[in-house]
Amino acid sequence: MDKKQIKFNFHTHTIYCDGKSSIESSIKQAIALKFQALGFSSHAPVSFENPWSITTMDDYMKYIEEVGFYKKKYKGEIDVYKALEADYIPGFTYPFDFLREKGGLDYIIGGIHLVKNEETENLWFIDGELELFGKGLKKTFNGDNRKGVQQYFYQMNVMIENEKPDVIAHMDKIVMNNNERFFSSTDKWYRDLALETLGLIAEKQVLLEVNTRGFYKKKCKQLFPDLWILKEAKEKNIPIVISSDAHHISELDKGFDEALRVLKESGYKEHSVYNKNLWEAQDL
Ligand SMILES: [Zn+2]
Ligand SMILES: [Zn+2]
Repeated sequence: MDKKQIKFNFHTHTIYCDGKSSIESSIKQAIALKFQALGFSSHAPVSFENPWSITTMDDYMKYIEEVGFYKKKYKGEIDVYKALEADYIPGFTYPFDFLREKGGLDYIIGGIHLVKNEETENLWFIDGELELFGKGLKKTFNGDNRKGVQQYFYQMNVMIENEKPDVIAHMDKIVMNNNERFFSSTDKWYRDLALETLGLIAEKQVLLEVNTRGFYKKKCKQLFPDLWILKEAKEKNIPIVISSDAHHISELDKGFDEALRVLKESGYKEHSVYNKNLWEAQDL
């Protein structure tokens, strides 16, 4: 029997944000890989300058137009979807419904990359270089590491409640640059925070992403989320979406074998794929 392969990716960045590949080259590569669908999810614009997101609302509309153009051009060969990976940072990000409506999006992947200290309004970037992680945590939360982690999950919870993302991106990405240095992800308080968020994901019927990027970039040994969280998610019947979080055409299906292995270990037998206008369960 043929080895099971995943022929989809719903989390793909482009040159409109910090991705390195164009929309059309990504589609051509997906067709070469015999993908059935490719979803684009550049980082949504935010209200401050940065090197990783779509810069302006004008650029957002150009991105939407270009994805739409190639969606039509390659119709019949591959299904192409318009989406965003949107941050939620109170006071700094656009409401998801506004982005949804403006772009006629198929879905939004909601994720936390910047954690806000609500008293000082300072932001802690959890996704940058290893050294900046510790420095940012110290600067933003004044050495109170636990408070920083609590705020990360709190922000995610508020996002789930208020912004209603379709998919939760890399739920425990906060462990990536930590390497057990500033907090321990085996501590009960950490696990309780992750479990609380997982409960909310189940309650609000949001899809949980199984993200392979940290693994194939060799930033950490686990997928996002870690195996223990996936086992808990399976218990709660939370549907999952496998994604490579590709920033280059060479990454479209990277880490998918590992995702299949880990999902099998966690008991999952199905994954969700977006088909025309809704998420459907498919056998793994
Ligand atoms: Zn992300
Ligand atoms: Zn991403």
